Amino acid sequence: MRRIVLFGYRGTGKTAIGTILARGLNVPFLDTDTLIEQESGRTIPDIFRDDGEERFRALERDVIATLPARDIVIGTGGGVVMDPVNMEHLRAASVCVLLTSDLATIGRRLARAPRPPLTNLPQNEEIAQVITSRRRQYAASADFCVDTSRTSTKEAADRILSLLEKGVVPAPERAAAFRWFAAGPLPAPEHARLEALLTGPDRDVQTRFLGVAGFPCSHSKSPLLFNRLFKRYDLNYHYTRFEDPSIRTIMQVAHDIDAKGLSVTIPFKKDVMACLDEIDEAAQQIGAVNTVVFSCGIARGYNTDWLGIQKPLAGHKGDRAVLLGAGGVAAAAAYALTDLDMEVTILNRTPQKAQELAEHSGCRWKSWDAFSGINPDLVVNATSIGMQPDTGNPLRDDQLKKEMTVFDLVYTPPVTPLIAAARKAGCTTITGTEVFIHQAREQFRLFFGIDVPDTAIREILA
Ligand code: NAP
Repeated sequence: MRRIVLFGYRGTGKTAIGTILARGLNVPFLDTDTLIEQESGRTIPDIFRDDGEERFRALERDVIATLPARDIVIGTGGGVVMDPVNMEHLRAASVCVLLTSDLATIGRRLARAPRPPLTNLPQNEEIAQVITSRRRQYAASADFCVDTSRTSTKEAADRILSLLEKGVVPAPERAAAFRWFAAGPLPAPEHARLEALLTGPDRDVQTRFLGVAGFPCSHSKSPLLFNRLFKRYDLNYHYTRFEDPSIRTIMQVAHDIDAKGLSVTIPFKKDVMACLDEIDEAAQQIGAVNTVVFSCGIARGYNTDWLGIQKPLAGHKGDRAVLLGAGGVAAAAAYALTDLDMEVTILNRTPQKAQELAEHSGCRWKSWDAFSGINPDLVVNATSIGMQPDTGNPLRDDQLKKEMTVFDLVYTPPVTPLIAAARKAGCTTITGTEVFIHQAREQFRLFFGIDVPDTAIREILA
């Protein structure tokens, strides 16, 4: 049996439901708060009062790192989800169930059994504020969600037992989804894998799915990367390709197989927004979503491209930037660069699009041939010039100065003609592979709450 880990805000029933569940499975129940009290010889209110929340979190981390690996039900404190190291320990070889309740129910339960306050706010405001601030992490913690607002603890435990035994998706939906995947351009090994996972007699009902949504997306490196990461972190997930001309069809299939999330690529980054329940603020500003997380019946959209562009610029000096291009990834780059307070000028083959993006993102724009008059510290290529099979270069050799940092977002080939020319000119260079690595790292954190070291991603992609 995999471990069962219960996540959720205080007052959602983790301890009471976990106790019944453990009895039903005939395994021990361990509550991390109780373990902290036993290890420290003090009550949690005393630890909070005398040493503060930080000390409590350190004790909690120590307890979580030493939990047994098998045959056990674990109840966790409401804030464990905020620490990626906790998530790495708790998610390994576990089925993770997120318990939720509406705010009024939590308020009523906490009024009966008070806990140390986490803020200076009145209780009801605190509940709403803390749940909102942890929303992303709670979504990442969930393999399954159970709403405990209107159920008894016994009913909630029975629901979890049923999920463990039968999974979420009935056989006809799984078979229909497999037929859809099989009708697409699947390589033979992936066809066999999906057949076994969706319809095979020995399939594990708890295996969940994620994938890249695009048309086409057979070139994507995400399946290789994510499936290797699932092995590394012992996650019962499979990452595949959702390839179809319609994003609505893809979203329907993802819904039918209770997918955990999607990485969204060309040509759906804008169109997918109309299919979502909630969109993160940065993604709204950029006008594109490249990550969808499904959790508790809600589809939330995020954009991790801009973080993938911003992270490799840590330590970059000089604030005058030229952004070449005005398409989808250029919008993420404009957001990333203006967020770093850079003075950004957009140049694009079609000047009207440069003007539109500049007005939307608070940048300047000029005609393509104005490059040499700008003398930028940083050049970001967000056009598709130089992307295989194209061998073009958006800049001439004489436009490259050794003081410049040249960042090419194109990553096929790994060393583009622009990067090769910039290296020859003595410029500092950043390749598009860096963007892929960092945006994937952020996606993994949104899907599972785990922070993968970028070295691990580099090793897999090498
Ligand atoms: P897009 O929305 O189609 O935009 C393409 C941009 O390239 C437009 O500004 C277009 O100018 C310009 N362009 C295309 N051909 C050109 C040419 N021959 N001369 C001058 N300009 C040209 O595409 P996108 O999604 O932004 O992607 C752009 C590139 O970024 C692609 O190569 C993609 O692979 C890469 N990318 C990399 C990552 C990563 O992780 N490293 C992530 C996303 C994208 P017009 O407006 O005039 O058409």
